[in-house]
Amino acid sequence: MTENRNQETSGKAEKKRGKGIPLQVIDIGLAVLAVIAAVALLLTALKTRDAYDTLRMDTETYVRSRQSADTLKTASDYMTQQVRLFAENGDPQHVANYFEEALQTRRRERALEDMNQFFGDSDAYRRLEKALEESHALMDLEYYAMRLKIEATGQPEENFPVELQQTVLSPQDEELSAQEKDLLAREKVFDEVYQSKKAQIDKNVSACAEALVESLRMREADSSEGLLRLLRMQYLLIALLVLFILAAIALTAFLVVMPLRRATVNIRENRELAENGAAELRYLARTYNQILEKTRLHQEQISYEASHDPLTGLYNRGVFEDALVQPHKDQTLILIDIDHFKELNDTYGHKTGDLALQKLAGLLQKSFRAEDYVCRIGGDEFAVIMVHTDETLRGLIAGKLTRIAAGAAKEDEEVPAFGLSMGVAFGALTGPGGDLYKDADTALYRVKENGRGAFGFYGDND
Ligand code: GH3
Ligand code: MG
Repeated sequence: MTENRNQETSGKAEKKRGKGIPLQVIDIGLAVLAVIAAVALLLTALKTRDAYDTLRMDTETYVRSRQSADTLKTASDYMTQQVRLFAENGDPQHVANYFEEALQTRRRERALEDMNQFFGDSDAYRRLEKALEESHALMDLEYYAMRLKIEATGQPEENFPVELQQTVLSPQDEELSAQEKDLLAREKVFDEVYQSKKAQIDKNVSACAEALVESLRMREADSSEGLLRLLRMQYLLIALLVLFILAAIALTAFLVVMPLRRATVNIRENRELAENGAAELRYLARTYNQILEKTRLHQEQISYEASHDPLTGLYNRGVFEDALVQPHKDQTLILIDIDHFKELNDTYGHKTGDLALQKLAGLLQKSFRAEDYVCRIGGDEFAVIMVHTDETLRGLIAGKLTRIAAGAAKEDEEVPAFGLSMGVAFGALTGPGGDLYKDADTALYRVKENGRGAFGFYGDND
């Protein structure tokens, strides 16, 4: 029975067996994944910084280029202002201012060069270049106006830059009076032709600014798209990292913490451990189960040996004494003793004697219920405690004892026939303070006295 149960439990454990994932593999795997995600996150963060720098540079470039366009316009307007002032009042200082701007400060040319650095091959640059060309073209008109004014005011031409000295009036204008020349000089820098040329320059400067805005908008759109992509990537990587952390917690919980908690409960209750969780824990559980099984078998063995007679496998005297409880109102005790057993031993040998003892044990075990105590209490002395019985079973007991005696009297290949003397006493018939064992022994003694090979009930002849 016990053995069967053992086999069942070890069978169950067998089913649950599996290799399991070693903790080391999980550890290294998760660490590698986390490091990859962290490195990718770092790289995207660096890329985001680059993209942000590019966006900032684009904006700075735009601001500088926008300033270049403004500068060109400012310089052009300044020259217009100076040439107009000279046409108005003839003060040579305005000419000096004009030429300082045109030939030394050269803000217009520098503005264009500045833009060339960032937008060399762009629509904006071409527009500004056009504005400069127009501004240069306008200078001829302005030189002409200034020349007219010099001649109208009669100032010595040596006082003026060589460009003006070399400017030649048309023969028609040369003929004009000083007053007419003065008037014409003003007209040249205030009339519609001049205004429209100035407007053309302004238009190109504005077109340049618009082109700059458009280009910045496109670059910004590009950069924002890139930045958005990088941000999305970062969200994904952060989500992955969180996932790895959760996976690590879940795996640790499923593979280590929960199996350990279950194992603790089982160990406390002295039960087998389920082989689940990480490989290392499965190995521990397997080893523990094997040790537990061995210990259980060992304990069963010890308790069996402590309660059983090694030769016959019947209960021993210790069990018999414990079972014969006081008061034993519902117990019936039968004492059995082999007749002339010493002789049997002497005649057939000790080994045959042992076989006779085993044969009798078998006969007794076959004849009584499982809950009855069939014991060997001495060399050739046996006892049966029938539980929950009384004298009403006298006939049934007599039948059993007759069959047992017949079995013993029947010789077989190994064991010769032997006789039995048996004494029976009912607990229900024992008076107050009575001794069931003593009663049965008395009955047995009577049988021995009367020639052996029979059974007797206590009280019948006493
Ligand atoms: P009686 O008819 O009066 O009962 O006589 P007996 O010879 O049966 O009784 P006795 O008590 O003198 O002898 C019992 C013998 O049982 C003595 C002993 O050598 C033998 N014996 C005791 N234990 C064992 C055993 O385990 N194996 C064998 N073969 N003999 C045993
Ligand atoms: Mg005997």
